[in-house]
Amino acid sequence: MHQTTELNCSVLSCAYNNNLKQKCCLTDILIEGDSAPVADQTRCASFDPKFDSNPVPESCSTTKDAFIACSATLCTFNENEACIAKEITVDSTKDTQSSTQTRCQSFRRL
Ligand code: SF4
Repeated sequence: MHQTTELNCSVLSCAYNNNLKQKCCLTDILIEGDSAPVADQTRCASFDPKFDSNPVPESCSTTKDAFIACSATLCTFNENEACIAKEITVDSTKDTQSSTQTRCQSFRRL
């Protein structure tokens, strides 16, 4: 059984972001950061730009914990390329239009 994680996200310009709860609507995401030594070198590869102005995507009135696949193996919460943290936060720079502007704020170097 996959470990799941409470997934907070402040990337309001993502198509899967519940802006009101600042939570991700997806139940599976991918964080990338092959041998990233710091949080700024990680990114949410599941990011997709939002094209409508609806703050809550239809598919997402309720948010659930998510399974997080992660390639940032230098993180203390990484176990076999899966995240075992109880809770993480994904954030980004202002007006994010690309996954490269996102990061896993909860990254902690081993
Ligand atoms: S906390 Fe660590 S293991 Fe979990 S998603 Fe972020 S970088 Fe990956």
